[in-house]
Parts: sequence; C-alpha cells; structure tokens
Amino acid sequence: MRFLPLPPNSKDSSLSPEINAHHNALRQISVDGGSFGLSGFSISGLASYIQVPELDICFDMGECPLSAVSLDHVFLTHAHGDHSRCLMRHDSLRKMIGIEKPAFYYVPESIYPVACDWIRAEAIFEGVSPARFALPSIIPVANNIWLPLEYRPDLLFRAFPVRHSLPSIGFTVALHKRKLKDEFLGLHSQDLIRLKAEGTEITREVIEPKITYIGDCIGESLLDQSHIWESDTVVLECTFLDSDEVPMARKKGHTHLFELVHALEVMGDLVKCKRIVLKHFSMKYGRKHILNSIQRAMPERFRDRVIALI
Ligand SMILES: [Zn+2]
Ligand SMILES: [Zn+2]
Repeated sequence: MRFLPLPPNSKDSSLSPEINAHHNALRQISVDGGSFGLSGFSISGLASYIQVPELDICFDMGECPLSAVSLDHVFLTHAHGDHSRCLMRHDSLRKMIGIEKPAFYYVPESIYPVACDWIRAEAIFEGVSPARFALPSIIPVANNIWLPLEYRPDLLFRAFPVRHSLPSIGFTVALHKRKLKDEFLGLHSQDLIRLKAEGTEITREVIEPKITYIGDCIGESLLDQSHIWESDTVVLECTFLDSDEVPMARKKGHTHLFELVHALEVMGDLVKCKRIVLKHFSMKYGRKHILNSIQRAMPERFRDRVIALI
C-alpha cells in the first residue's frame, strides 16, 4: 500500500503520524506525585476521562477503559459526547463483570431530566424492555453546596458553574476532617476529655480541597471561580495554544493557553496548587508542539507545577 505524502504545511493535518500517535482514547497517561495519582485521556472532540483511584472517582466518561469500571463515583461535567458518551457503558460493564455495588453518577442538575431520558432511550435501544428498565443511581448536583460522597465519609464534593457553549460545571473534592480548635492546642488529653464531657466543643470542621476538575470552560471561568487555585491539584482544559487562536477559543467556549497564563499571573501567590494538570488539547496539535507551547508561554514560577496530560 502506498501513502500519499503529507501536504507541505502539515501542522494541522490529522494525517500526521506524529499527531495520530496520541489519539488513542484507551492509551492512558499517568500523573504521579502529590498525595494521589491520576490517569486518563483527554483530547478535545475525541474523549475525556480522568481516574483518581485513591478517591474512588472518575471525572467525565468520554471513554470507559476497564480500569475505570471498579470506581464507584463518576462526575459528569457536561453533555458533550466526548465527556459523556460512555457514562452508561460504565454501568453495563460493571454488571457484565458482576460488580453488584451500585455506582453513583453525579450529573449537573440542569441536565438531569434529559440525562434520564437519554439513559432510558439508550437502554431501550439496546433491547431492554421498557417495563424492566431501571434507572441507575443518577444524582442531580446543585452548584455551590458541599455534599458528602457515597461510601466515603472522609470526602466532600462541591460543583460550581463554569461558562462553556452549553451548561457546564466543575467539581472540587475535599478531605473532610475535624481538628482541635487553636485555643485547646497543647492541652493534656485528660483536660480535653474533661472539656468534652462538660459539653465544650473542642474541635472545628476543616475542609481541605484536594482536587478540582473542570471539563470545558472559557478562560474567564478560571478567575470567576478563583477558589479552584486552592486545591492541591487542579485539572484544566487548555484546548487552544497558538497566538492567533484566542478569538477561536472564545467562539468555541474553550480556554486558550494565554488566558490560563493570564489567570495565573492575576492570582499570583494565591495559586496554592502543587500540580496544574492541563488536558483537552485540540486534536490538530502534535505532542511536541503542545509541550513547546506550554514551555514558552508559562511563567517560570509556575512551570515546575504544570503537567501536560499528553
Ligand atoms: Zn470537550
Ligand atoms: Zn464541551
């Protein structure tokens, strides 16, 4: 078989083998370090899913590798197919494998009714009798409220709105603890036991944000929702990279690398994240182009914390 030569300017060509090499949605990229690892895949228009086994969570389900099937919580950010397509594949693979424990599927409140209609239609399309259809545990999630995670009393999560071409949310997952109030630090345990017995509240609630994940959003959302920079790890989309593509990013409801850099510069010392994981690059870029663009644009003070999921 003969292959046609690539056109002279092949940077944007999906025919380029250098580009195609990272377009396999089941080829996972792992990010280690920090207090937990994460792995997954995310290229705009193809698929996005990010698994965090230590937290028993998968963010988005644009593809469902077998490694995601045992995770008990799936957070869906929005309805675009590259983020949502395999939501129910996760449920059906669990049944095939014999996992009886129900998984929980957290979806934006605004799309909950159509999500239920879609899931029902998909099941009937696959031959399930309407009389026997049972909806899995689909949980509508309201914005800006800390909620407990099923099976995990140590964790809370909160959804927040972001701006995209259709309703879209981000999620923050946090450790939920109680710590001794400052005024009781240094007291002997017997004194603490006595105070507690007398009805004194000696502890306070602590919420430690561990990871924030945004599916798709415009650059302004990174400042509108400035709390995202308090999480240990933040996972963000960075669909467009080239200097002439800022208007394109805006038009399509996505973040441009320059807008991300702007948000980091505005936030400065308020960026507490230890890891800034970038994902969802346009499928027209090669790996080298992505890494070079980030290296060139990222201010030095943040460069060590930035990881491209590619
Ligand atoms: Zn997307
Ligand atoms: Zn989208």
